[in-house]
Amino acid sequence: MIPPPIQQLLLTALYAAFAEWAEKFAFACRKGCATCCTRSVTMTSLEGGGIMAFLTAMDRLAELTAPAFQPTPNRMAQCTTNTFVGAHLKGKSVEEEENWDLRPCPFLKEETCSIYPVRPFGCRLFVSLAPCDTCGVAEMPPGYLAGATALLQCIEHLDNGGAWGIMTEVLSGLNTGRTDGFGEPTAPIPGFLIAPDEHALVEPLLQGLLTLEIAGQPFKQWLEDARL
Ligand code: SF4
Ligand code: SF4
Repeated sequence: MIPPPIQQLLLTALYAAFAEWAEKFAFACRKGCATCCTRSVTMTSLEGGGIMAFLTAMDRLAELTAPAFQPTPNRMAQCTTNTFVGAHLKGKSVEEEENWDLRPCPFLKEETCSIYPVRPFGCRLFVSLAPCDTCGVAEMPPGYLAGATALLQCIEHLDNGGAWGIMTEVLSGLNTGRTDGFGEPTAPIPGFLIAPDEHALVEPLLQGLLTLEIAGQPFKQWLEDARL
């Protein structure tokens, strides 16, 4: 397992690599546009560690005891990103439950994210080429989701021994020290779901990330170390 401070360095580097890659797209997203900010955001406990440190530094940890952060049994996410991709690579169909909680995220204050510097990757990747409130759904460029999903997989892989689940519930688990009922165990990368016509867009993102030098060795080596 990678020491937590290095895990956080790797996470920060991954966020930066993704932001640089995504700059090429003309997204309509802007401050104050927040219909996508719901309580269905999922993340790993690794990302949760960064949010916990932020809330601690801002003296805001008490927010996690609010009812909005307590688990709702019939709304639990059950299939991690790597579990989902692994099943698809084996040709198995995956049942996705339609039980997402679309009430506003409790970190949304005055239509603005109150944990913006440490928001999880699930928030960073959610974008649209046209405002969602006018077209009803998010419009993403072809291949964009394949790149974002590959990085979601890397985060989950780095969080060996951690948990994956609904953001509010993972945070509640971290805050209480409980491991039961607050997320699914993370899984290693089983491969990537990148279609042939998505390679040209996604490969520069993945290769750029894997060859990044972090704390004395390439990101790719850290991914290998994560499972030791
Ligand atoms: S994804 Fe949609 S709702 Fe969210 S910021 Fe972008 S345009 Fe607005
Ligand atoms: S954490 Fe921030 S960006 Fe993510 S859903 Fe909540 S308010 Fe929106």
